[in-house]
Amino acid sequence: MAEWGDDTTGLRAGWARTPEQEHSEAIFPTSSFTFRNAAEAAARFSGEAPGNIYARFTNPTVRAFEERLAAMEGGERAIGTSSGMAAILAICMGLLRSGDHVLCSLGVFGTTASLFANQLSRFGIETDFVAPTDTAGWAAAMRPQTRLLFLETPSNPLTEVADIPALADIAHAGGARLVVDNCFCTPALQKPLAMGADLVSHSATKFLDGQGRCVGGAVVGDAGTLDNHIFPFLRTAGPTMSPFNAWVFLKGLETLNLRMRHHSEQALALAQWLGEQRAVTQVYYPGLADHPQHDLAARQQSGFGGVVSFEVEGGREAAWQVVDATRMLSITANLGDVRTTITHPASTTHGRLSAEQRTRMGIGEGLVRISVGLEDQADIRADLAHGLDRLAPAG
Ligand SMILES: *Cc1c(COP(=O)(O)O)cnc(C)c1O
Repeated sequence: MAEWGDDTTGLRAGWARTPEQEHSEAIFPTSSFTFRNAAEAAARFSGEAPGNIYARFTNPTVRAFEERLAAMEGGERAIGTSSGMAAILAICMGLLRSGDHVLCSLGVFGTTASLFANQLSRFGIETDFVAPTDTAGWAAAMRPQTRLLFLETPSNPLTEVADIPALADIAHAGGARLVVDNCFCTPALQKPLAMGADLVSHSATKFLDGQGRCVGGAVVGDAGTLDNHIFPFLRTAGPTMSPFNAWVFLKGLETLNLRMRHHSEQALALAQWLGEQRAVTQVYYPGLADHPQHDLAARQQSGFGGVVSFEVEGGREAAWQVVDATRMLSITANLGDVRTTITHPASTTHGRLSAEQRTRMGIGEGLVRISVGLEDQADIRADLAHGLDRLAPAG
């Protein structure tokens, strides 16, 4: 398996056929498993003998998803979870204790910021937020109690790119771990573990599924951390991935490399076109040569991803006009779908933050985020042009 290329790994890693000789993976919708005798039951429960016990923490379909994703990320192990947020929570609950300190990127998913700022803070875990591109700022914010550095790259929605190897060095120098939420790139475009990250977290809900069907997540990393810290939390607390969802995600992984390459091509073409529109004052996409971290993105990523954001003049009213004038694009805060989605971050994904927090994060009222899907490029452009042309009529 180790010698397989990425495309083969996405298609074939992590499934041993059952005696039925099925060609596509089977779903095992069973909550528990039987034992041949009491001694076998005892050996399974004690951990002496490997094997299935109960689907809160062992299921063959979930395991197949975990093994395939681990192989794709270049990790020793993966653990599937009920959602992306559950994956992040499992990392925190498995590795942190009261009194610990966390550094989190300012450019993370709104709910992730809220988990650190509003939930974990109640249990004595303190978090400071740092700009993803301010590498020196991360080093300066380290404390003796800092145990975890958490980031997304590229960030949502401004596509800022963080320097993974540099931040891994800062984490390790302080005895902390670096966690990268690899939702935007997926292993198809970026492999954080190979660049020094200790753990990868995923919302499988996004590109891993890719077709907007299921909610799920995963943690990927080394066997010691996952077996000794993450698995005990999952087994005890139960934020478990269902076998059906694991099967859907397995089907998603089969086309992940192909989709991400095409999402990247589509997004680059759209970003270039948006840059030529009179109503657009700024485009955020790491694939553009004038993106501030374009060179870093080109080093870390094998593609620039499927998410493009842009700013229009006229604030919220103008941004809403662009959103509302679309007839084909899906108006939804979700992303990572084969269908193009459009959202206004300031009033949706980042709407629960204060205006001051949004300003600090650089999320303006005129900002629109697009997760570029796989429709015809001409149709996506035409749909955006409905609103953009009204804002700035040609000639
Ligand atoms: C959606 C998302 C999450 C949370 O995932 P859920 O599956 O919705 O719980 C975490 N990180 C990023 C980057 C996301 O986009």
